[in-house]
Amino acid sequence: MPELPEVEALAHDLAKRLDGRAIVRVDIANFSCLKTYDPPISALAGAMIDGVSRRGKFLDFDVSGTHLVLHLALAGWIRWKDEVPKLPAKPNSKSPLAARIVLDNGSGLDITEAGTRKSLALYVVRDPNDVEGIARLGPDPLSDDFTIDVLADILAASGRAQIKGVLRSQGNIAGIGNAYSDEILHAAKMSPFKPANSLSPEELDLLFATIRSELSEAVARADGLPASELKGEKKSNMAVHGRTGLACPVCGDTIREVSFADRSLQYCPTCQTGGKPLADRRMSKLLK
Ligand SMILES: [Zn+2]
Repeated sequence: MPELPEVEALAHDLAKRLDGRAIVRVDIANFSCLKTYDPPISALAGAMIDGVSRRGKFLDFDVSGTHLVLHLALAGWIRWKDEVPKLPAKPNSKSPLAARIVLDNGSGLDITEAGTRKSLALYVVRDPNDVEGIARLGPDPLSDDFTIDVLADILAASGRAQIKGVLRSQGNIAGIGNAYSDEILHAAKMSPFKPANSLSPEELDLLFATIRSELSEAVARADGLPASELKGEKKSNMAVHGRTGLACPVCGDTIREVSFADRSLQYCPTCQTGGKPLADRRMSKLLK
């Protein structure tokens, strides 16, 4: 799933390509992805695109005051096309195409979703905050609103909840998902299962600085890359996420994996948990 750095880079790339262009039409190829009906998708036809920005992991296309909001979910992506087919895209359940935006110069973009579990979402709204997932977003970790005091309040309010889940909850902090929460906790040398309200002042300082540095470095690496190169760029810079069984780039220990909620997380025992592997709750439940 694209997270803050990738969505930020997508927004920059798309803003450059789309600014000042008009939308000819938006084809919906998979109707289940369109979550709103008022304004209708046809309201976008003929309107100029004024900008593209990121809100958490959402992309917000400002189309002359009407907003097309996109959440790429787990397997969604955007493919830029210098030339799109003239005929409207037909609904086809076997095709990964979810929607197509056709521009006035014949170019456009395909919004695609791989796999059978369809969760990509498109909204047409008058105000981005009409999208519930945007209205309930916590502060953006790269904005000036996100201070160490704000982080301290979030952690205190989370009680003994595991820090991994607190970091990736969009209502707490906007834009951090499964991958960057693994990376941040590894860089801060913190156990993913550490209770949120148990950090010392030094650990709080370190976690705050690490959230900022991990995300801003990833944004800097991703910025300027076209959509087609972003996924590979993200993957190649991960220290622990998605690297189960490989060597930790910091200490050389073997990176482990445990289940977490409906996903799994990766971590380095030497860097993060005093050398002790975390118990996999899913496994211990099965063995009982
Ligand atoms: Zn390590």
